[in-house]
Amino acid sequence: MPHTISRRSFIEATGALAATLTTTASATSPVQSTAAQLKGQPLPGGVRLPATPPRRKRDDSVGIAIIGLGGYALNQIMPRIDHAERMHIAALVSGNPAKLAQVGDAYGVPTDARYSYADFDRIVADDRIQAVYVILPTAFHADFTIRAFAAGKHVLCEKPMALSSTECEAMIAAGRRANRKLMIAYRCHFEPYNVEAMRLMREKAVGTIRLIRTDQSYRAGPTTPAQNWRFNRALAGGGPLEDYGIYGLQSALYLSGEMPESISAATFQPKGDPRFAEIFAHVATQLTFPSGAVAQLATSYDAAGANLAQVRGTDGTLIIDPATGYAGHRMRIEGRDARDFTPGDPTTQFAAQLNHFANAIRDDTPILTGGEMGLRDIRLIEAIYASAREGRTVKLAPDGRMRG
Ligand code: NDP
Repeated sequence: MPHTISRRSFIEATGALAATLTTTASATSPVQSTAAQLKGQPLPGGVRLPATPPRRKRDDSVGIAIIGLGGYALNQIMPRIDHAERMHIAALVSGNPAKLAQVGDAYGVPTDARYSYADFDRIVADDRIQAVYVILPTAFHADFTIRAFAAGKHVLCEKPMALSSTECEAMIAAGRRANRKLMIAYRCHFEPYNVEAMRLMREKAVGTIRLIRTDQSYRAGPTTPAQNWRFNRALAGGGPLEDYGIYGLQSALYLSGEMPESISAATFQPKGDPRFAEIFAHVATQLTFPSGAVAQLATSYDAAGANLAQVRGTDGTLIIDPATGYAGHRMRIEGRDARDFTPGDPTTQFAAQLNHFANAIRDDTPILTGGEMGLRDIRLIEAIYASAREGRTVKLAPDGRMRG
């Protein structure tokens, strides 16, 4: 049984730590829920498979195994690997054998490089694979990352890094032991609008930063925790904050250039709505930075669509709206030096992220969005939930750990 293997390897990798995981997860989440189970899914709607398999572009290209053939892998990442100069798909891992065969044929992945979750650990003997990309529900990020490191592979892991800071620490430790790279797939760090916004804020284009607002919301259709993993606590954690609000949290940190020293937050879980039987509908957070700047972050699965990042300084306001999507960004500064910005094509963020990871592996260059950044964010998310649960302001150490 796949999950028995993964659980065992996780416990071996983390020792006694694993025993604390259930407690940590439930302490930050609204209700108890059943254990996470790996389960292959049908081919998502709207997937366009390549008519001819993509070709490897360079001799030193990094062979990557895609773990989880879901919507994000098939619609966004796998087609973009062809745009990344130094990466190619070397293997696939899936719990749905028919989909694995269909996708494997379309992408030209050899039949002996198609793995199930149960036989994933055999990748240790597969020299075609240098790295894996974990694109599974959050509950499985730590397990597959640690198993990939045990097999001697580098790891690119989707956001959020894991369900708890304890899991994140175990992932980082496993990467260090294996002497392999760990990158969290925070694609906005490679997207031209957000990169330009970071530069503008460093150069004080709106003066001294005073107020930041981020809003990441959409209204989810009818669903239940059994139908959709994003609404299942055991698979996703507390809900919109980990999934979508994490973009606003990230923006507040990389636009301010600061770590918050305190957090206060509120959560809302409506009664009688099957969508929110296990997770929160929305989370509202206030971060206070050492400079005195304040960020207000809102995220919801039950409010009209929004994807905004706004920084109000002493001399003007930077507005990115939409801020963190796959495409369609708009950015302007209002105030003393008003102007619009079109710094580049946002869709290049995918290939840029993949090449950054490949270059780090081949040239041993540092990773911009490493495990420590993922851990930092999960610590902040834990502090947000602690604040909301306990109805108090939580003070933070510079690494995001809660004080007291
Ligand atoms: P999907 O639900 O579309 O796909 C998840 C895949 O995981 C499934 O198709 C399945 O693959 C596998 N899986 C294994 N066990 C389960 C289970 N119990 N329930 C559901 N799926 C399971 O999710 P997404 O592709 O949208 O998200 C996957 C990851 O990517 C998440 O970490 C998410 O946060 C991240 N993501 C990141 C985005 C970004 O912009 N950076 C955008 C969207 C998602 P199979 O059938 O092959 O076994």
